Amino acid sequence: MTNQPASTDPNGFARTPGGAISMDGNRLRDEIVAELAATIVAAGSPAVCLATVLVGDDGPSQRYVRNKHVQAAKAGMLSRNEVLPADAGQARVEQVVSALAADPNVHGILVQSPLPAGYDEEAVLRLIPADKDVDGLTSESMGRLVRGLPGLVGCTPLGVMRLLERHAVPTRGRRAVVIGRSTLVGLPLSLLLARKGVDATVTIAHSRTADLVDVCRDADILVGAVGQPGLITAAHVKPGAAVIDVGISRTEAGIVGDVDFEAVQAVAGYITPMPGGTGPMTIACLLENTLTAARLLGAFPD
Ligand code: NAD
Repeated sequence: MTNQPASTDPNGFARTPGGAISMDGNRLRDEIVAELAATIVAAGSPAVCLATVLVGDDGPSQRYVRNKHVQAAKAGMLSRNEVLPADAGQARVEQVVSALAADPNVHGILVQSPLPAGYDEEAVLRLIPADKDVDGLTSESMGRLVRGLPGLVGCTPLGVMRLLERHAVPTRGRRAVVIGRSTLVGLPLSLLLARKGVDATVTIAHSRTADLVDVCRDADILVGAVGQPGLITAAHVKPGAAVIDVGISRTEAGIVGDVDFEAVQAVAGYITPMPGGTGPMTIACLLENTLTAARLLGAFPD
């Protein structure tokens, strides 16, 4: 069937045929990119530069990186792409990342993951200074997040938070269930939802969670960050809940999320389309992080 909205609500948000507000990530990405561009112009257009490092010729990785550069240009940012062959070797990759780390004209560094087999990704990450870590993946960035210090937070969890904020989904005192506990998505997102000021009561569910349906049915905010097609059914969803699909599975039928969209949109109050929900928000927040990095480095006015 279709993920297309049937109508709009009084705030201009589109609704699905079942009546849920569609949390349109493409629209919000375009808004955020335009806001970033306006912020940069208003500051006198200082150079803000994102550098990506792409090792090997994985098709999806190439497309992700290309898209990041397209959107960076729209945000009025400079971007650099260091492309290395799959057999470049650990030392060469580390040399490139170290040079970007030392370059005062580069504010954000993103090493496209996964690196080809045989590379030590942790060793590469360790070379990225926390203030340039626009993926929020280094130990220093994770530590800052836990301790509530200024720093950079992973783009996908930040994108989920922006979707909730922009659609005015209440979080204070509400129950949130995040399915998935990775350092990339589930764990940082759980910390963000529980932060002072956001104030949700958060449960982290995972592959060993017993009675997942029971756990999820209490959630006012339910996030799937697993990568298992259709894991979240209507039975998992409390009527009116906000349901956010982060999972991406490539199937013969195309890209499929963790949420059974057709069934869930008839029960949920808010739902992200897949594709067109969390994916575009990840890129928007990468660019938001690049501007934050420039600020942390003192290269952009607060
Ligand atoms: P991961 O494999 O590191 O983690 C998956 C998590 O799911 C694990 O914590 C595991 O405990 C949990 N899990 C596995 N099976 C489960 C089950 N049956 N019930 C409950 N929990 C289960 O993956 P990741 O890096 O966190 O990514 C998660 C998904 O999000 C993937 O599909 C990935 O492609 C996608 N992703 C999407 C974006 C985006 O922009 N939308 C960005 C990053 C990752």
